[in-house]
Amino acid sequence: AAVCAASVYIVRRRMQSSGKWARVIEILRVLEEDCATPIAKLRQVADAMTVEMHAGLASEGGSKLKMLISYVDNLPSGEEHGFFYALDLGGTNFRVMRVLLGGKEGRVVKQEAKEVSIPPHLMTSGSDELFNFIAEALANFVATEGEDFHLPEGRQRELGFTFSFPVKQTSLSSGTLIKWTKGFSIEDTVELDYLFHFIPNLLHKIVGQDVVGELVKAMERVGLDMNVTALVNDTVGTLAGGRYYNPDVVAAVILGTGTNAAYVERAHAIPKWHGLLPKSGEMVINMEWGNFRSSHLPLTEYDHLLDFDSLNPGEQILEKIISGMYLGEILRRVLLKMADEAAFFGDSVPPKLRIPFIIRTPNMSAMHSDTSPDLKVVGSKLKDILEVPTTSLKMRKVVVSLCDIIASRGARLSAAGIYGILKKLGRDAPKDGETQKSVIAMDGGLFEHYTQFSECMESSLKELLGDEASGSVEVIHSNDGSGVGAALLAASHSQYLDDVSE
Ligand code: BGC
Ligand code: MG
Repeated sequence: AAVCAASVYIVRRRMQSSGKWARVIEILRVLEEDCATPIAKLRQVADAMTVEMHAGLASEGGSKLKMLISYVDNLPSGEEHGFFYALDLGGTNFRVMRVLLGGKEGRVVKQEAKEVSIPPHLMTSGSDELFNFIAEALANFVATEGEDFHLPEGRQRELGFTFSFPVKQTSLSSGTLIKWTKGFSIEDTVELDYLFHFIPNLLHKIVGQDVVGELVKAMERVGLDMNVTALVNDTVGTLAGGRYYNPDVVAAVILGTGTNAAYVERAHAIPKWHGLLPKSGEMVINMEWGNFRSSHLPLTEYDHLLDFDSLNPGEQILEKIISGMYLGEILRRVLLKMADEAAFFGDSVPPKLRIPFIIRTPNMSAMHSDTSPDLKVVGSKLKDILEVPTTSLKMRKVVVSLCDIIASRGARLSAAGIYGILKKLGRDAPKDGETQKSVIAMDGGLFEHYTQFSECMESSLKELLGDEASGSVEVIHSNDGSGVGAALLAASHSQYLDDVSE
């Protein structure tokens, strides 16, 4: 039995139903069946994950899991010090920040950040304009540098660049965008136009380009003198940020608009790595687990259609059943079927329900966590989003059940992925006489804000690990780790590291 599905009582109770309700219950029952993630299935998914991890590490293109080499072969120790910039680009919004690192005692002494949104008019222009815009925003931010951030004489500012898409790196500070994935960070203010026109245009322009090279050229154009010291995926940044505070952090997972994981691998377990063996003997791998797929994944008719209609059909299949960009959209598709085939909302289908992505995952989360006896929040969300003036309590209960089924599947599959990583690392079971701890640094809006999701993920991970092993595995929230992490990696790979004059 799924530990998380708390409210699927409608199906179990087998309501005395006829006509419309019989069909509604039938659709609900089939969904529950198709989304089922009994523990045996989760174990199969985890095993398939470790098999694909091996294949992706063995050869380039050996697996759906790209297992990208990050060139990060040493993670922050806490000793890092100095003043560094970070740039975080994940979608329509990007963030610039600067941090002052004080070594083991001081840690992050001071931190300042600014969020900037990318104007839609850049959609029709070339990639130069996009990078110019980013470089200008960075230059404006540098101009507001206070006295606390003191740059030693003769030094260039250094930047860690977090870029939350799959990049084939050629060094720690260079790489090309392989493909674009999720659209953008979902916010209520973002128009749907962005999703279907702006983002694909924006990202298509930079596929195959040297991301850092373009940024550097733009910085030169705007007269900003800064060295891009590290280019990292957000998972790698989160791993670095997590490790900075906790030496037991071995992996990082993002559950947000998109989903992905990075972990520390032994360098000699990476056959496709032909470079020198790093001194640490380790290498951080960006798995790009969002692209995982397997016959063991519980996929429904809604998932197949969502994928077919998506901007990247056939790709990012795991991401499409786990991540924040899609959960609300799956819910919309089920509700549309209920409206169409069972007159769920009455004789006609609410026109808004036909608009893709109109139900955002934060709204789904709000409905899912509605504890009021009459499910008030569910009622008002349905009214606001779908313009359905009234709903019965019975209808609202069905909606909560749908949220529960869809979110539980995603949460349990995330747990299976984490368990797969722990298995690959040999950290899934306690070893005799060892008190090895394994910590997973987590971040992303889904993890942070969708409580039922993260609680279900954690309880499922415990279930997979069993009582004994779950004591040695810990999941922590690495708040905003990816930005600080990029700055830390710039610090630990600074061009001035050998400079002992400080
Ligand atoms: C991207 C990853 C990223 C993840 C989380 C996915 O869509 O492919 O590179 O780490 O989203 O932001
Ligand atoms: Mg992010």
